[in-house]
Parts: sequence; C-alpha cells; structure tokens
Amino acid sequence: MQIIRLTLGAFETNCYLVEGEPGRCIVIDPADGGARLLRELGSRGLTPEAVLLTHGHYDHILAVPDLQRRWPSLPVFCHPADCPEALTEYDMGQEFPTVTAFANVQPIAEGQELSFAGLTARVLETPGHTPGSVTFRIGDTLFTGDTLFYIDIGRTDFEGGSYPQMMRSLRRLALLDGDPEILPGHGPRTRLGYERRFNPYLKNGGGGVPWG
Ligand SMILES: [Zn+2]
Ligand SMILES: [Zn+2]
Repeated sequence: MQIIRLTLGAFETNCYLVEGEPGRCIVIDPADGGARLLRELGSRGLTPEAVLLTHGHYDHILAVPDLQRRWPSLPVFCHPADCPEALTEYDMGQEFPTVTAFANVQPIAEGQELSFAGLTARVLETPGHTPGSVTFRIGDTLFTGDTLFYIDIGRTDFEGGSYPQMMRSLRRLALLDGDPEILPGHGPRTRLGYERRFNPYLKNGGGGVPWG
C-alpha cells in the first residue's frame, strides 16, 4: 500500500490517494483542485476505483465532478446522514456541488467493508463533526476526516454537529487496539498512541479550541 497526500483548496484539506495493486487506487476526500488531482493521478499512472468521503462538507468533495467527468461510473461512498441533506447546510456562502449532483453515490454504514484496488476499507461511524462523519480503516491506518487531528479535533458548532457525539466518537477511536497511523482531513499525520497521550480531548476531555 502506498499513500500519497495532496493538500488542496482554500481550507488546506487533505486528499489521500491510496494505491493498493499497482496502478489502482482509492481516493479519499477529493477536496478541490480537480485539474491538479487529475494530473497527479495521470503522472503516477493511477486509476481510481472508488471515492470515499469522510463526511459531506464541501471542502472535502469539490473535485468529485472532475473525477467523474474522467471516470463517469466512479462510485462515491458517503454516509447517508451527510448526503445529500447535510451538504446543503454547510455552504458557508460559497458555490459548491451537492452529493445528489454526483453520479453513483453509494451509502455506507458502520462495519461495512469496501474492497477496491486490492485494498479493504472498513467503515467506523464517528459522528460529531457532522452527523455522517466516518473514519475509514485500511490496514493499520485510520483516515479520520475532521474528527481527529494532530493534537486537536474538528469543530462541532456547524449545523448538525454535536459535542457529546464527538466525545463518544473520540473515545471509541482512543480505545482501538494498538498504535495505528492517523491521517486526518487537515494538518499533519499522527499516531493514535501519541494522541492518547497528548490530545486534551482524548485524555480527559476539554482543552483547546477545535478547528476544521
Ligand atoms: Zn468538515
Ligand atoms: Zn474539513
């Protein structure tokens, strides 16, 4: 497995290209910058087999139409709580596509396993930042979207956000076995063991100011 991180768009959102079998990949959160994303895929000889959305905020989905223009049947996996209704809530005053505008949107749920590109991604529901926020686990790597960041967590003050839900989701992640790598929706990578020790929201609750 090889993971390429692209940081795209006005909110510096992380998009991950996860290559399993050579030349085949999963795209997690095609955030923005469709032209650059297509160039990166092309120059690396990668064909995407699925788009996985950690949640429906528009800064994580803007390049989906660019990918589907190139690969019209590319499936887009999104938790139903974030597609399509949630998307219309979070426009923050900007133009953005909704999930209903995408082709081939597939709902996902807790425990589901998505197998593409020779990889299997397991769905963990981690609501709080949005009602449909999920974490994808591929091997020993967690793609946490805007739930868990390096020594921080996502905001819960957008429409549909919930601080109590967020605390339950973080606790759930903190209790996972081992020391998986954390690849968040914004900011640098980290590890779960490090966050258990240093992230105030995973230690005892309360602390810094959430962002993202
Ligand atoms: Zn978000
Ligand atoms: Zn975000």
